[in-house]
Amino acid sequence: MTTKAYAAHAATTPLAPFGVARRDPLPTDVEIDVLFCGVCHSDLHQVRNEWKNTVYPCVPGHEVVGRVTRVGADVRKFRAGDVAAVGVIVDSCRTCPSCTRGLEQYCQCTPTYTYNSPDKVSGGITYGGYSERIVADEAFTLKVSEKLNPAAAAPLLCAGITTYSPLRHWKVGPGQKVGVVGLGGLGHMGVKFARAFGAHVVLFTTSPSKIEDGKRLGAHEVVVSKDAGEMKKHANSFDFVLDCVSAEHDLNAYLALVKLDGTLCLVGLPEHPLPVAAFSLLGPRRSLAGSGIGGIAETQEMLDFCAEKGIVSDVEVIPIQKVNEAYERLLKSDVKYRFVIDMASLKS
Ligand code: NAP
Ligand code: ZN
Ligand code: ZN
Repeated sequence: MTTKAYAAHAATTPLAPFGVARRDPLPTDVEIDVLFCGVCHSDLHQVRNEWKNTVYPCVPGHEVVGRVTRVGADVRKFRAGDVAAVGVIVDSCRTCPSCTRGLEQYCQCTPTYTYNSPDKVSGGITYGGYSERIVADEAFTLKVSEKLNPAAAAPLLCAGITTYSPLRHWKVGPGQKVGVVGLGGLGHMGVKFARAFGAHVVLFTTSPSKIEDGKRLGAHEVVVSKDAGEMKKHANSFDFVLDCVSAEHDLNAYLALVKLDGTLCLVGLPEHPLPVAAFSLLGPRRSLAGSGIGGIAETQEMLDFCAEKGIVSDVEVIPIQKVNEAYERLLKSDVKYRFVIDMASLKS
């Protein structure tokens, strides 16, 4: 069945209308009519081939919330009419040590990403959520509470889980001082979760215009990172810093904030490598770490946590025709704090 979508055909051309073939649901598949899809900075990196692995045409989108239209004969978790979601991965080997621990994002055979991945079923390439509908195995499809606004819930599928997972893994909680670097899609969810987990939260931003928003979103303190004096006041004081920055920046300046045995965890994925001085790490025995999205069970846990606590993303809903403009605004750090595409605009 041909499905309307938006695709990039090259690194340097804007996204434009495109038709993709979606399979009819297999026995364990869920077919979802996409209502909203978030715009992640990863979509922009991928579309512009910044990670040097893009297969064109590329239909991005991995923050998908929609309504189930059809299910395969063996599907037990979903039925037509349910609100369902798809995040960054749609399959994995399911048998390796990572998969059996529920860490499908670290599948040793490489997970099947929602877009730009070899599609095990079609033999082609996977196409993401900037489209009318998507078909995914129920094992990789999430349940979304009717309590959550579906547009504001969409970014939870990537920005949400990518910040929730490391904060949980490093056991962020009361009595800890936690930094979040960069107030964009990921950063604003990082601030909300770190606050919800009971930590003392400090936001580091390059944008003085975001100070008030940072506090409203849950930061106890906001530091403009270009102010060396302010940065120095926080040296050696953080248990954990979550770096959500999409572009080149000086990691050594953020490592200097971390206290003895604390961790700087990268979730941002800039195009180019970031230099680290050995002295930045060995002084007070700091750790530099990274974290990728989250497993399926943890993503469901995060969605349920958000439904219970009323946590969603702050979104700017756009028609798909404005997606290229949204990308330009992302590059200027001009997002409050996630663009979400209303997929009804694709049907009109
Ligand atoms: P975003 O909404 O564009 O936010 C990025 C923020 O980084 C900006 O709002 C800005 O915040 C800050 N920033 C931008 N340029 C900067 C610079 N040159 N120096 C310092 N700070 C700068 O992006 P996003 O969607 O949150 O994604 C962030 C990064 O995470 C991207 O690289 C994305 O690919 C990656 N990502 C990783 C995973 C994973 O699994 N690890 C998942 C999703 C996304 P301020 O204005 O506050 O400074
Ligand atoms: Zn993403
Ligand atoms: Zn695996």
